[in-house]
Amino acid sequence: MNPDTGEILDFVIEARDEAPHTINLVGIESPGLTSALPVARRAVRLLAEREHLTLNKSFNPRRKGIVSFSDKTTEEQADLIAKEPAYGEIVCRCETITRAEILQALNNPLGVDTVMSIKNRTRALMGRCQGGYCQTRIAAIIQEEKQKEPTEILYSRGRSQMFTGWVRV
Ligand SMILES: Cc1cc2nc3c(=O)[nH]c(=O)nc-3n(C[C@H](O)[C@H](O)[C@H](O)COP(=O)(O)OP(=O)(O)OC[C@H]3O[C@@H](n4cnc5c(N)ncnc54)[C@H](O)[C@@H]3O)c2cc1C
Repeated sequence: MNPDTGEILDFVIEARDEAPHTINLVGIESPGLTSALPVARRAVRLLAEREHLTLNKSFNPRRKGIVSFSDKTTEEQADLIAKEPAYGEIVCRCETITRAEILQALNNPLGVDTVMSIKNRTRALMGRCQGGYCQTRIAAIIQEEKQKEPTEILYSRGRSQMFTGWVRV
């Protein structure tokens, strides 16, 4: 808020003494995406005014995306399956999403482990059956990969536990 006028401000880019090593980016509404790079540059400049930053030469800014099966040609699909057999197992039949794609989403650097996070990253559960076929299968993959109990599987965030005990897939 502007202390003089009381006006609510957007695109606030600030560093505060009470929160060291932190830059606040407040009210980044539209066109926040379009201005992401200049906002990021300003945030780095602001941080560099307060802290000694050293370049991490080994940082790789390129993120490897999930390799989608459904948009490949038949030959490319065969190649994918030959290299990674999990591409041969269709988990979401409506959207043709394979086990390999679910695993890539689960094991990405952010370490997602909810059913919704898999949906957002792969399009599984978004087809006409709305997860009727794949939802419990995805839950089973999360359980297996992340070594969780069925009662720990979350649909989304918070306390959105899906099961009270063992579930037959
Ligand atoms: C419908 C719509 C259309 C838009 N169209 C455009 C457009 O055409 N062009 C344009 O430039 N901009 C557009 N924008 C604006 C743009 O999307 C935003 O400005 C931009 O996404 C803001 O980026 P951000 O990183 O600040 O916040 P966000 O993108 O909102 O990211 C914040 C992240 O923090 C996570 N988070 C929140 N709370 C917590 C917590 N407690 N713990 C952990 N994580 C948390 C959220 O899940 C989210 O992933 C649009 C926005 C909307 C809603």
